[in-house]
Amino acid sequence: MLRIPGENPRSERQRLLANAVPAALAWCIAIAALYALRRTATHPSAWLGLVAAASNLVALGAGWAASSGRITAKLRAALPWWLVVASALLFLLVEITGGLRSPAVLVPGFIALGFAWRGSLANGATAAALWIAALVVADPMLHRHVDPAWLFSVAVALFSVGLIPIAYARRAVTEEAKARARLARVEGYLADRRMTPLGNDAVVGDLRSERQAQFQTAEGLRHIDALDRYLRDVRDTMGADEVVFWRFNEARQTQRAAAWSTEQATSPRYFDRDAWAPLVRWAAETGQVQCVADGDVSFFVVAPVREGGRVHGALSISSRAGLTHTPDGAKRWAARHAAHAAVLLDLLDLRREASRHLLSTPALIRAAERLQAAKTTDALGAAICQTAIEVTSAQRSALIRWDPEHETGTVMAVSRGHALAPGLAIDGDSVVAEQCSMRKLLHKEDARVLRGATIYGRGEPKRELGGLAVLPLARADIGVIGAIVIESDVHDTLTRREVENVSLLGVIAARSLETAWEIEEEWRRARTDGLTGLYNRRHFDEQLARIVSDSLAHGSPASLIVADVDHFKRVNDTYGHEAGDAVLKAVARVFLDCLRAEDVCARYGGEEIAILLPETSVARAQEVAERVRKAIAAKPVQRGDRTIKVTASFGVAGYPESTALRDALFPAADKALYEAKDGGRNQVRTAHSAVG
Ligand code: GH3
Ligand code: MG
Ligand code: MG
Repeated sequence: MLRIPGENPRSERQRLLANAVPAALAWCIAIAALYALRRTATHPSAWLGLVAAASNLVALGAGWAASSGRITAKLRAALPWWLVVASALLFLLVEITGGLRSPAVLVPGFIALGFAWRGSLANGATAAALWIAALVVADPMLHRHVDPAWLFSVAVALFSVGLIPIAYARRAVTEEAKARARLARVEGYLADRRMTPLGNDAVVGDLRSERQAQFQTAEGLRHIDALDRYLRDVRDTMGADEVVFWRFNEARQTQRAAAWSTEQATSPRYFDRDAWAPLVRWAAETGQVQCVADGDVSFFVVAPVREGGRVHGALSISSRAGLTHTPDGAKRWAARHAAHAAVLLDLLDLRREASRHLLSTPALIRAAERLQAAKTTDALGAAICQTAIEVTSAQRSALIRWDPEHETGTVMAVSRGHALAPGLAIDGDSVVAEQCSMRKLLHKEDARVLRGATIYGRGEPKRELGGLAVLPLARADIGVIGAIVIESDVHDTLTRREVENVSLLGVIAARSLETAWEIEEEWRRARTDGLTGLYNRRHFDEQLARIVSDSLAHGSPASLIVADVDHFKRVNDTYGHEAGDAVLKAVARVFLDCLRAEDVCARYGGEEIAILLPETSVARAQEVAERVRKAIAAKPVQRGDRTIKVTASFGVAGYPESTALRDALFPAADKALYEAKDGGRNQVRTAHSAVG
């Protein structure tokens, strides 16, 4: 929600208080003054004096209730009648208690207040004037004396009590209405501008801060003021009634009055929408100046406002009395003013972009902090993607990891709500691959020309692209290590400035990513076996502890398979150590092909392989082992012209089926493996049940 700069948001109650306090104060002062005067007044009976004073208080309460809207609709409708009846009774009271010198003389002020509130200030003034006239007539008759100075004071007090609070409240209400109308214009104006990082729904968190929203509103207000001023000048030089600038939104195919010359108006006052709107549209589309003269409207001129290839909208100039120019002259001048307006709009756009750039700097600084704070590569990827859409008008972004050596890549992270799946492989002939291999930035303000092209790879989501930028992330010594890709739905919104923001982000990101990827690589190296690519014993031990405690927590089983290549020493002895290595690699491949992604397959010893199967029963693990055994036996290893037949033996144990002790699980499977060896090798044996 936008807010008027400098305006304090005040609650209804606070506003009421601000109006009621000065009014109540004025009334109290009036009453106090009256009591001071009363001492010198002629003396009616004491109790009537009290009634007159009390009626002041009652009137004060009634005035407050009325001005705060605390009376029912029914009562409000009947208020004028009540006021008439009350005024008659009060007149009696005032006269009985001393006429002009009565303590109740100001009560009619409240009656005037009621009329002013219900009707108009003129109504209130009339009521007060009638009262004074009645008193002036009655006083000499009933009290036999007239004091002009006294009369003047009472008249001033009466008018003040009756009219000032209402005048004050009316003015406050009008100003607020004006401010609201102005704000509505700014909101409309901003909505029609290019999508900005601040107006974008994708913007989250701190970018939406109050300070920035206010900054944006102030900027919008300044723009509208500049436009209004310019249109007023045009109106005056053309001798027109009204000049309106119509802004076009190509994406939404709408036209909207963005600024007009008529002061204080919440919308163009002299524009006949039904009759002229099609003409405005037509003028902007064809680029022709239109001029019509008909009955009521002597002149109506429309000129397109375009700059370069961009259509901003159109200028409409209308006059009932006739313009200062001939029709041809009017057309010529309208075209000239429209050209000026286009330049002005471009300048305003430039200023807007400059201030937006100013705003994106803190966003980038925060991004740098956020990237520093990201502990995992996933968090880092998410932070980069999120920042990329915060500092641009893009709706989606993706982070690509690129291997410069093999020229391959994968989608590593995407912004929230992006339909692209992380993990997707980048196609060799995709746009992203091309930019990464060439180490070149791609920026298409209008990406519709890329329709049908593969941006990432096969399986990427189908979508309409408005704008696109691919920014390769390069490290001087290594080359391209990744890319940030940003996409926008609306063409011509992704500006050069915005892409520069992302370039800056890229510089920060490249360093962080490289470090994160190195740490990840280090972690991976420390946990994998160099020869087979399987995990090593260290990782296996860590995972065994994790999987068993998960199984305990969730009450689901977990299984362990231990396998050993049969007569491997013989393979080494017969074919050589290198052939032995090749056999180990081939066997490891078979294991990986037969297992799920969540299974942990590790080289436990020389030719011994251990597999952890989370959430798997012993029976199921047995099946898996059997499948692997068959696959190994069925696939001899080819070394030149020699075929090496390989088999392996398997031991299976389950937690908690075979043993309820975590540390007993491996020995149980190992024992089963030895039984398989003893039983003649190339077979699967299972540990005995813990219960059995
Ligand atoms: P069994 O069927 O009883 O398991 O017979 P085996 O010959 O496989 O048993 P043993 O444990 O006696 O032999 C294991 C051999 O594996 C000994 C060692 O030379 C060999 N070996 C261990 N690691 C490697 C390796 O990384 N590469 C090669 N080529 N051989 C290895
Ligand atoms: Mg062996
Ligand atoms: Mg062995």
